[in-house]
Amino acid sequence: MDDISGQQAVILTIDDEEAIRESFHHYLEDYGYSVIEAENGQVGIDLFESQKPDLVLVDLRMPEIDGLQVLEHVVSKSPDTPIIVVSGTGVIGDVIEALHLGAWDYMLKPLQDLSVLLHAVQKNLERSRLTRENHAHQEQLEIEVQKQTEALRKTYLEMQETNRQLLQSEKKYRSIFESLTDVYFQVDLQGYIEEISPSVFSNLGHRRENMLGARLWDFYVEPERFEEMFSRLSRVGTIADFEVLILDSDGLERPCAITAAREANGDGSGRIYGVFRDITERKQAEAKIEHQAYHDSLTNLPNRTLLLDRLELALHRSRRHGYEGALLLIDLDRFKTINDSLGHSVGDQLLCEVAHRLASVLREEDTVARIGGDEFVVLLSDVGHDTQATARRAEGVAEKIRHELSLPIRIRDHELYITPSIGITLFPMQQEDAGAVLRHGDTAMYQAKAAGRNTVRFFLPGMQTEADERLGMEKDLRLAVGQNQLRLYFQAQIDQHGAVCGAEGLLRWEHPEYGLITPDRFIPVAEETGLILPIGEWVLQTACELITKWTQGPLSDSLQHIAVNVSPWQFRQPNFPAQVERILARTKADPGRLGLELTEGVVIDNVADTVDKMASFKALGVKISIDDFGTGYSSLSYLKKLPLDILKIDRSFVEEVTEDESNAAIVETIIAMADHLGLEVIAEGVETEGQLAFLQKNGCMRYQGYYFTRPLPIEQFEQFVLDSSK
Ligand code: C2E
Ligand code: MG
Ligand code: MG
Repeated sequence: MDDISGQQAVILTIDDEEAIRESFHHYLEDYGYSVIEAENGQVGIDLFESQKPDLVLVDLRMPEIDGLQVLEHVVSKSPDTPIIVVSGTGVIGDVIEALHLGAWDYMLKPLQDLSVLLHAVQKNLERSRLTRENHAHQEQLEIEVQKQTEALRKTYLEMQETNRQLLQSEKKYRSIFESLTDVYFQVDLQGYIEEISPSVFSNLGHRRENMLGARLWDFYVEPERFEEMFSRLSRVGTIADFEVLILDSDGLERPCAITAAREANGDGSGRIYGVFRDITERKQAEAKIEHQAYHDSLTNLPNRTLLLDRLELALHRSRRHGYEGALLLIDLDRFKTINDSLGHSVGDQLLCEVAHRLASVLREEDTVARIGGDEFVVLLSDVGHDTQATARRAEGVAEKIRHELSLPIRIRDHELYITPSIGITLFPMQQEDAGAVLRHGDTAMYQAKAAGRNTVRFFLPGMQTEADERLGMEKDLRLAVGQNQLRLYFQAQIDQHGAVCGAEGLLRWEHPEYGLITPDRFIPVAEETGLILPIGEWVLQTACELITKWTQGPLSDSLQHIAVNVSPWQFRQPNFPAQVERILARTKADPGRLGLELTEGVVIDNVADTVDKMASFKALGVKISIDDFGTGYSSLSYLKKLPLDILKIDRSFVEEVTEDESNAAIVETIIAMADHLGLEVIAEGVETEGQLAFLQKNGCMRYQGYYFTRPLPIEQFEQFVLDSSK
């Protein structure tokens, strides 16, 4: 049971369906929660106000006051109270809007398994508890700051008193004034300098005579700091050690600390007086101490403390944004031998050179740290969205490092050769904190050492196998294009009358040793190595040649639309539209029959460029579809902006459409949305009669899937189309 400050957590469930309220009520009560019910939005808001529940569950669709209004009320009144929307209709648009408005989470009704509810309640109560703790902590801090301010204020009231006494004794005042090392100043409420001590010369190089009558604020570098200081003085009367940047006589910015008080006469006149001093040295010393605390003094790289900080941050970010990162632990082989035989000074220089080389192979946002004698760490954050791509990039960096370090290092008269053992671990995976990630990197590094040094090892053995396989595949793939090992298969697309209306070209690689390899295995490697560009061009060329051939033959009526998949890498090439146009012209293919399939990711990446490119395809008459629709960021707003023709419903939704209601709802929504935007829809991965019936019933008129045919080699495909048109 979740416990909020020692008491039972109270959950408010707002739903107009009594059965649902009751089921939530009983279920949650069994787990020790106290549950209150509201049968409509208004009762919900009233109960929320009077009972102050710890968590709210709200139905989105209710008569009169609907869930979104309740949501807005709760979020505005108590942003720390978790609110979970329960959507009955499966309209993704509403759920998206609810999340925008501040809902913490959502669930789709009906819940087949109430443990989903329990999980959501527990998770969000825990999040809420953490948020509250954080706030309490901040309040504590503020109290502390207030206490300090009060103490300072007392000091400065005392100072004011001293000043008053000083003023009484003009003579004494003069002598002090003349001999001050700090700068004493007195300005009117507009900031005009009435008095300033001669020490302003030794502090900032300005002559007292030149400053009298000028405005002190005109020497400030940041006007907003002046405003802040002025308003604080109006509010509390004093300020202490208030840091500002003031221009010296050479026009350089000098940090100064001001302590001052404001004296107001009843008639609106008054003055501000106080002292300031140049604190450049203090600042430099502080910065140096701070730097030393976080950097290794030999190489000036971040040290273990700073690394762990950044790693913690990277972990946090990757959990939040779904990016993955990698940590490389690098240990120099045989460093101890060099250090012992040639001396520490050579060893130190070697470490500096290594630090330098490591930094040279990385992006600016990556971190290289030195965490021990000859142990370095490279932190690659925000690398990619999927593990395989992240692993590939980490491996690429490791190989670069190995290469870079393998070049001879000259120190004095010695030519040194050094090799690294590198351990790689990816995050976040299931690793709970930065310490764990570092430990896993360490383990992998020892495996690399055990494997004979000068090697790279992944923490997870599965990744190692993949890495080995990838290297092999990369080599072979380079040959595949030249040696004619690529094949374009075709899978027919079927219309509502059961007739073939088009096809999608799907790439296959006929490997001389391993046989037929599917694109999911080699496209990522092709993208990583840039081979996707010649491969993509080959696919386009082949498809266009076939369009020309089919248009002139008996398949012409059936094959109105031939789609090929376009990798984001291809699409982002500036000359991609020109390339397509050139291929169309060369092969004399009818542009109206060619379709390009893009994924959602491409579209979002750079909307302006995408819109431009799509417009050029539109002008050519080439059709654009969004492939795997629904799996990416289904933000509807961008769809409207794009000149699209077709949405392809991802097969993961189609697969469960007859069993899983939320998938059914998603498919319905996609079809309705496409209709609204005037787009065609086509469903991928149709495997059963049931799926087909569901799609037909809901207005999806085109289908692709094993139920009709698998992707086939060209001849068999042609035969299939011929047979089915008889
Ligand atoms: P995709 O574009 O979404 O293609 C549909 C995939 O679903 C194909 O897998 C197809 O064989 C498979 N499929 C079709 N009907 C069914 C079905 O009823 N049930 C199931 N379980 N699967 C079905 P394939 O051929 O392995 O291609 C995988 C992905 O590789 C494609 O997904 C596409 O993203 C990519 N790809 C294929 N050819 C190319 C290409 O020429 N260039 C690029 N850049 N990517 C390609
Ligand atoms: Mg496709
Ligand atoms: Mg697809």
